[in-house]
Amino acid sequence: MTDRLDVTNEPESGQPRQNAEQGRKSRPFLGVKFDCCSIYSRIYQNKDGTHYIGNCPKCAKQIRIRIGQGGSGNRFFTAY
Ligand SMILES: [Zn+2]
Repeated sequence: MTDRLDVTNEPESGQPRQNAEQGRKSRPFLGVKFDCCSIYSRIYQNKDGTHYIGNCPKCAKQIRIRIGQGGSGNRFFTAY
């Protein structure tokens, strides 16, 4: 009789990555579609909190979305 125990597949414990992400957590982001390349990505709020600013991951085009259009209902925008 073989008494073999396979323990190589133990589940990951803890979440060490959460610490690294904590610095970023204070900065809200927006999911946008870059119309130039039809690609979705995240853009982050600027320092003043007046705009969301980001670059297209493909063509590096910069987009800006103004903040302050009442409410946070729609979290996704299309950037032009
Ligand atoms: Zn693009």
